Amino acid sequence: MSEIKNLQPQAIWKNFHLLTQVPRPSGHLEKVQKFLLDWAKEHNVEAFQDQAGNILMYKPATPGYENRKVITLQGHMDMVPQKTKESTHNFETDPIQTYIDGDWVKARGTTLGSDDGMAVATIMGIFEDDTIPHGPLEGFITADEETTMYGVEHMSADTLKGEILLNLDDETEGQMIVGSAGGVNQNAELEYQEADTDKADAALKVTIKGLLGGHSGLEINEGRANANKLMGRLVQDALANYEACLCTWEGGNMRNAICNRAEVVLTLPKENVEAFKEEAVADWARVFKDEYAAVEKALEIDVEDVPLPAKQVPAEIADNLVNAICACHNGVMRMIPEVPHIVETSSNLGIVTIAAGKASFVVLVRSSRDSMRQCCAETTESAFAMAGMKVTYDHAYPAWQPNPKSEIVALMAGIYRQLFNQESQVQVVHAGLECGVIGAKYPEMDMVSFGPTLRSPHTPNERCNIPSVEKYWKFVLETLKQAPRK
Ligand SMILES: [Zn+2]
Repeated sequence: MSEIKNLQPQAIWKNFHLLTQVPRPSGHLEKVQKFLLDWAKEHNVEAFQDQAGNILMYKPATPGYENRKVITLQGHMDMVPQKTKESTHNFETDPIQTYIDGDWVKARGTTLGSDDGMAVATIMGIFEDDTIPHGPLEGFITADEETTMYGVEHMSADTLKGEILLNLDDETEGQMIVGSAGGVNQNAELEYQEADTDKADAALKVTIKGLLGGHSGLEINEGRANANKLMGRLVQDALANYEACLCTWEGGNMRNAICNRAEVVLTLPKENVEAFKEEAVADWARVFKDEYAAVEKALEIDVEDVPLPAKQVPAEIADNLVNAICACHNGVMRMIPEVPHIVETSSNLGIVTIAAGKASFVVLVRSSRDSMRQCCAETTESAFAMAGMKVTYDHAYPAWQPNPKSEIVALMAGIYRQLFNQESQVQVVHAGLECGVIGAKYPEMDMVSFGPTLRSPHTPNERCNIPSVEKYWKFVLETLKQAPRK
């Protein structure tokens, strides 16, 4: 049986172990919702499930602490279901198998679910213990954060009773997040009549691969290459100088990941094939490797001869689409003028598919300033509109603007110093947090986000740092003890 139950602090690890036994991939939360409600009943904790699938719990103040502001402890119940190629794990039925490796807790072949099971275990640990001093508490365990933020998106604006929200979903101990970016999904589409290929032509498949990819918010300023954008430059050259035609394009598979691989099928006159391979492809490989020498160590361009497809994109439309890819803003648009080391606004051309009479481009625009999000979206939309594409938007979510007067952040910075003789790092992140959505519904809420140290969340390599959990737990308890008075 798992050894993690015996780790310190027991209050967290024992409950985290219980959670690992309950399947809870995003989109399949019935089991964990029932588990939490049953757990609350068993521990005499008042709890209910709201219409959006969130679980709320209440606990009165410890005697002597009734005059404190109500604190909402928040985390999400769902986890990202990722596993290794070899794993036979079924996320809807099987428990997560945890193990200890030095200072880390890991899972065998799957995500661990410490994002955000650590928060849920924290709430359980506090709510079941009658010896911990605290004011009135609310536990707020949200549904489907990882996919659509469904729980906070669909909660009503009078659900929460708290005046202070401690979001326990950050991944670096010692850091306090006080602001996050908003975002919007942008989709551009064009349908076209395919043309016949020239039977005398040859066909080539060109693949750009080996790129790092990564998170389109947190890693957008790391200087990584986007395979769709590199491919745009190469294909533009092929169309302009080698009489090539575009048949298909397949680049990226996630809106919120930097595109790390793109492949196209081109046709071109047989007599141009050698020159295209030896001049164009070889030159672009040199240029790209040079431009990204410091970052993309495994960048590769691969060319192979393939059978001639029957259909291709008509020349004028191919030109327009490739121009749109090249013109589309991608990457950092602006840093925060007041905090120049943090990204304010960015876009990511995550997915490009062109095939069978339909072109579809998928972009995620992020900004911590809503008007700049709009500006960036209009910039990319303009490029797509010039190609005759139809642009639609969905799933816009607001930014969380830092509040320099936050009472809880000032208090917790002092507590951190007092406990650990060390400064905490106050940060704004270029990624979406539930706090943005909650803050839009509860503008008076004083919010901060923090947590123990996790590495590689959302991958089978997810791990949770054991010593950081102990520091984090002390930090939470001391914050509750010193909670502001009403
Ligand atoms: Zn999370």
